[in-house]
Order: sequence, then structure tokens, then C-alpha cells
Amino acid sequence: MSKTLFEKIAAREIPAKIAYEDDLVLAFHDINPQAPTHVLIVPKKPIVRIGEANAEDQQMLGHLLLKAAEVARALGIESTGYRLVVNNGRDAGEAVPHLHVHILGGRKMNWPPG
Ligand code: AMP
Repeated sequence: MSKTLFEKIAAREIPAKIAYEDDLVLAFHDINPQAPTHVLIVPKKPIVRIGEANAEDQQMLGHLLLKAAEVARALGIESTGYRLVVNNGRDAGEAVPHLHVHILGGRKMNWPPG
């Protein structure tokens, strides 16, 4: 099977500004930032979207969220606040079929989201 875009970033086949990496996850700056800080954190396992994750992914998904918080702290947006976003499917605007959590911060966000 061909690699997903984010697998290619993890393999350093496509350049990205890496913010964090371990055995299970990779965080890198979004190429089209929607906030002063916009980082994506992805599992290295190419789960297509959260709706396709299963029980065997439970530990990794917990790790992904804990690391998202750690990356946000390291990027200096914890005290002002940040938003984590997971787009699942067409209506949510999912564009890349490899699960990713957006970490957005550095500006005031609106609620409800658009
Ligand atoms: P989503 O709409 O939730 O699927 O988000 C996909 C995100 O991937 C968008 O915010 C894009 O800007 C981002 N993106 C696409 N290609 C790249 C890339 N080569 N490097 C970093 N971010 C990317």
C-alpha cells in the first residue's frame, strides 16, 4: 500500500517542521496555518480517521492526546489556551485521510466553530 502524506512526512520524504517525535506519534507545523500556532500531531500508524480506530488503538490514542497537551505546553500556548480539533469525514472538512489532531493557539477562537 502506498504511504499517506503524513507517513511520507514521518519518513522525511516530504519536508516539514517537526515539533515532536517518538515511536508512536509525530507532531509538525501545519503548512497552511489557521492560527499563529498550528501544529498537527499524528499517529505513525496510518489510521484513516478517528471513526476507523478500534480497541487495539486505545493506548496509542491516549498517548496522542497526552502528547498533544505536552506539545502545546512546549509551544507556549498553554496559559492562553488552545484548541484540539479532529475532523472526521466530509462535513467536518477532513482533507487528509490519516488521523491527525490539530493543535491551534495564539489567538482567540470562536464558538461554535464554523
Ligand atoms: P484536515 O482538513 O483536518 O484533513 O487537515 C489537513 C491539514 O493538513 C490541513 O490543515 C493542511 O494545511 C495540512 N497539510 C496538508 N499538507 C501538509 C504538509 N505537506 N505539511 C503540513 N501540513 C499539511
